[in-house]
Amino acid sequence: MLQKCALCGALSNDAVCRKCEQILPRPQHLCRRCAKPLFQHHAICGDCLRFPPAFDEIKPVFSYQYPLDRLITTAKYGENFSVLKQLGKWMAEHFKHEKKPDVLIPVPSYLNDLKKRGFNQSVELAKWIRKDLDIPVNTNICHCIKQKRPQAGLSAKERHQNVKGVFEVKNISKDWQHLVIIDDVVTTGATVNEIARLFRAQTAAKISVWACARALK
Ligand SMILES: [Zn+2]
Ligand SMILES: [Zn+2]
Repeated sequence: MLQKCALCGALSNDAVCRKCEQILPRPQHLCRRCAKPLFQHHAICGDCLRFPPAFDEIKPVFSYQYPLDRLITTAKYGENFSVLKQLGKWMAEHFKHEKKPDVLIPVPSYLNDLKKRGFNQSVELAKWIRKDLDIPVNTNICHCIKQKRPQAGLSAKERHQNVKGVFEVKNISKDWQHLVIIDDVVTTGATVNEIARLFRAQTAAKISVWACARALK
């Protein structure tokens, strides 16, 4: 069914037309661990060398830049489920050649966000990846148990402090060798690092983060 492209308004078979899809910002030269952009061809950034994160890797599909940022805003705050589906499909396409992980675990919504929106965008993205790549999604073991202060305006260090104690991870399966955390946008990595820290306390499995987009900081 034809619909209007969410970016340019042209008629398209999908939520975003082919032309607009081609100009979406794809990241290059990233830290292999935290996916921070690097200006030289180092494999790992200085921060990850000094303070290794709890996850093994962050793999973003896009950079959180115009016009991808607009699509995320439309999906999340405009509750546009066809854009959300499109983003999930692009993620599935991007990760289809990866060795199949055992489970996808979406970042839980912060309590206020879920109340406000009524849906969790990371769960929606994970569902589309599950559909295309046939990887189970688990939304039972990781929960948000405490409201955090807003992250905006906080330094990276303050953000890491701010998410401490906000999540809870129940018993994870001993059979899982590779866990993938699904997030819509990784900003400083504080949230996914905190969740990975809780997983790491229970398992030696590989922990990856598949993100729709990564902020350029
Ligand atoms: Zn378009
Ligand atoms: Zn790094």
